[in-house]
Parts: sequence; structure tokens; C-alpha cells
Amino acid sequence: MKGLAGAGNQNMSQFAWQVQSVARAALDLLFPPRCAVCGRVERKLCADCVADFHPIGDSFCPTCGEPQLVSNICGRCAANPPAFEYIRSAYRYEAGLRKAIHVFKYNGRRGLAAPLADAMVQVLPKPLTTVVICPVPLYPARQAQRGYNQARLLAEELAHCWNLTCLPEEALRRIRSTSSQVGLDYTARQSNVSNAFAADPALVGGNAILLVDDVCTTGATMNACAKALLAAGATFVAGVSLARASSDGQSGR
Ligand SMILES: [Zn+2]
Ligand SMILES: [Zn+2]
Repeated sequence: MKGLAGAGNQNMSQFAWQVQSVARAALDLLFPPRCAVCGRVERKLCADCVADFHPIGDSFCPTCGEPQLVSNICGRCAANPPAFEYIRSAYRYEAGLRKAIHVFKYNGRRGLAAPLADAMVQVLPKPLTTVVICPVPLYPARQAQRGYNQARLLAEELAHCWNLTCLPEEALRRIRSTSSQVGLDYTARQSNVSNAFAADPALVGGNAILLVDDVCTTGATMNACAKALLAAGATFVAGVSLARASSDGQSGR
């Protein structure tokens, strides 16, 4: 498979990962973390709060992953088959998880990536070992403002949990600034993100790719990413998200 890190790079990144983990553990001893949801001094995200997250369950559209009463292809996917094979989301974008994601994205709490990825791994099926992981990118100006891309932090943690490779930032880039998807219907969401992404054929060509995002609503953003990845020679694109926002147009992207 093309586009994978060589063995040397892999060892180096494992070493860097271990150094980072030890540093994080030392910091936790010095400054005991508070749960991002309930505020209790214990962990960055306590087990009680994770247990309160609402998993998507068994009834969803087999293509876009939207929760439904029965697991049939939804009207949207039937009318407009998306470029991705499927999307699976771990939890509903509600209550405690909504708060945790807000803190993760807007309060600089990057350390939440590890417990949030652990929560994803608890409910999502393990992907095939042949896929490589790729986060949904932010527009560079937005990323510079925030200091990080929360989807990349989650993607790197998931790659670690599942023992998969995470593609570098150059693999998939957001080449056009897009306005927020909040409040837009599906058609407006699709045109808002259309042609907003570009993929590097040298990094993605010949690879089966699993996209990662924090919040997904209709899948319009992942669909635009999938089109760019397939155009650059990816053989397969699917996606996973930590949370699924309801597609009434009120939240998510
Ligand atoms: Zn808690
Ligand atoms: Zn669907």
C-alpha cells in the first residue's frame, strides 16, 4: 500500500507517543484533572459521565449512519447515493457529550482526545486492518486560531487504539473556507462544502481510507472529503464520528 510511513518512522512515532504519554501522566499527578462534564476532580472525563453518553444503537441508515426507527437506507441516501461507503457515529450529540466536545474544541482541552477516542472505541466496530485513518481537516486559518484540529487529535488517538496509520496533514486539505453548517438543510450543506477539499494522490492513492470527525450531521462534509479522496486515487472511503447531531439543521457539520 502506498502512502504509509516506513518502519523507521513508525518506530519513531511509537517512541514519541510513549514519551508524550509519560509526560501527560506526570502532569496529571502534578495537576489532577477535572472531568470536562461534571467537574469532579478525578480524570479528564470520568467513567460515570461516559456511561451517560447515548450510543446510537442498532437502528440507523446502513449508508450514512443516521439514527432511524428501522435500519433501511434513508431517503436522502436513496435519492443521492454518497461517495463514501458508510459513516458510523458512536453517540448522539446530546447533553454530557455535547458539553465535552465544546470544551475539547473551544477551551483548549486537547487532552480530552484520548478519553473521547476511548469512548468511541467502546461502541464502534474495529475497522479492517487494511484502512488508513484520515481526519476531516480544518481550514488553515481556523486551525491557526484554535491551535489544533480536534478531528486530527481524535484520529491520532484512534489510530493508536486500533493500531492503524494516520495520514499526515498534507494528505487531505481544506482549500476553501466554508461557513458554519449549523442551520443549513442538506442541499445547502452540500453546496457549502462542495469542492472545499483537495487530496494528494501521492499520499492517498491506492489506500482504503477511514475519515474521522468529531461531529457529523448529514454526512455532507464527509461526502465532500470522500469525493476529493476518490478523485486522488483512494480505493475506498468510509467515515466515523464521535457524535451524531440530529439532522434538523440545528447543529454539527
Ligand atoms: Zn464526570
Ligand atoms: Zn442515509
